[in-house]
Amino acid sequence: MKYKSTRTKDSPLLDSAEVILKGIADDGGLFVPETIPKVTLDEIKSLIDKNYCGRAVAMLKKFLTDYDDFELNECVELAYDWFDVESKVPLTILISDEQHKDSPVGVMELYHGVSSAFKDMALQLLPRLMSKALKKVGETKEILILVATSGDTGKAALAGFADVPQTKIMVFYPAEGVSKIQKLQMVTQTGKNVNVTAVQGNFDDCQNGVKEIFANENIRAELDKLNVKLSSANSINWGRLVPQICYYFASYAEFVKSGSIKLGDSINVAVPTGNFGNILAAYYAKKMGVPFKKLICASNINNVLTDFFNTGVYDRNREFHKTITPSMDILISSNLERLLYHETNGDTKRVKNFMQELNTKGKYKIDNSLKKKLDKIFYATYVTEEETTNIIKEIFDNYKYLVDTHTAVAMMSVGKYRRNTHDMSPVLVAATASPFKFTGAVLKALGQPVEGVDDLEQLDNLSFFTKKNVPKNLAALGTAKILHENICNKEDMAQAVLKFAAE
Ligand SMILES: *Cc1c(COP(=O)(O)O)cnc(C)c1O
Repeated sequence: MKYKSTRTKDSPLLDSAEVILKGIADDGGLFVPETIPKVTLDEIKSLIDKNYCGRAVAMLKKFLTDYDDFELNECVELAYDWFDVESKVPLTILISDEQHKDSPVGVMELYHGVSSAFKDMALQLLPRLMSKALKKVGETKEILILVATSGDTGKAALAGFADVPQTKIMVFYPAEGVSKIQKLQMVTQTGKNVNVTAVQGNFDDCQNGVKEIFANENIRAELDKLNVKLSSANSINWGRLVPQICYYFASYAEFVKSGSIKLGDSINVAVPTGNFGNILAAYYAKKMGVPFKKLICASNINNVLTDFFNTGVYDRNREFHKTITPSMDILISSNLERLLYHETNGDTKRVKNFMQELNTKGKYKIDNSLKKKLDKIFYATYVTEEETTNIIKEIFDNYKYLVDTHTAVAMMSVGKYRRNTHDMSPVLVAATASPFKFTGAVLKALGQPVEGVDDLEQLDNLSFFTKKNVPKNLAALGTAKILHENICNKEDMAQAVLKFAAE
């Protein structure tokens, strides 16, 4: 399997190891597989008796053809080793009553990794794939991953790269801009190759600082002397997308195994969407042959994607809202570019034009025939803050099942879809964060007091009220040793990078 760019017709064909290391194509486009591999129902059937790692390897093999089985097995086993449940991605099936037993909702819990959010699914595997890729392409330099984080990605990336050979990771976060739990998650990170630095400034300062370092030739030259090369672990990296495709197959197999659906039954999928990575993985799974009918693209009030699918116009010129689903507060959904590429049958010229218009005018419009194609695949809707809060309580009251705010957006979207279309097919819902990761909003939704209650205390309160256990990684935060106390001015970030690179 070879990969090419979304923006140039005859762009060079690269192996997966190369595209995982490069991250982004030389023309600024995203890497896409030359063809989308097919998976038969028989192959899906053969997944049923495998565990999560076995299922993941079977699907990774389709895309990462330059890695052998042994390598893939080793990467996957190490990646998901820590997960706090044996099944790695448990599927909880909710059925409202006997009358609706043909309309089960399967909740695919993607948050049992070290950071308690779904980013772990990809960020635990990507570093290991990168480390192997370095050997494959004969790279002898050390890779230094730079991350600017507003809170969530930082921990997942740190935990993923910790002690991975031939890599180092450095995370910058805004000193006053992350929650107490997010900060504790990062500053207690162990590993010989990790650095966590607070920046006196906001998230934009962190992000701009990192961008400037990437663009600065002098720093690159200095790093070169130290035998270090910069890289990133963005959600547009193919190595982050491909691990996500796996869980759609694994969960479909699990759904069949549960007896709630039969092999071959068509189901819908609902995904709380921000950067369009997770739902794009569902799209690839559908294209490959898993019987997915509609992909429900669930947004919060930053509903740029809802408008795009419903009107054909992508327009980022709008007010930005800070919500209780911060990981979906995004106005540029970068991974959409890959969808446009595939659904225009690889029309790189059109994709490039769309992206140029997005860059210069902040918007673009697709034509009617393309919109019709997307209508067949996607159903897009958005959910208000109040609806999000209400559905958390409703699900808890009805099922004694607890969801976080992001998952709640997807659950609410399923309700909207079913009411509007009367399609009551089974649904697979992506649960993207532990409810204990967004404790304040979840407690509030359940009518519990939060004002003046410390973040760590909130964990205990939520556990007490719902009789659910705090995930062990979060429970340990109160007593974990603080290992990183670095703080720097935004002007000094480059200096901090050079210092860490030399260590
Ligand atoms: C990142 C994230 C999302 C959005 O996923 P995308 O792949 O960016 O669409 C949703 N929920 C949570 C909890 C996340 O961390």
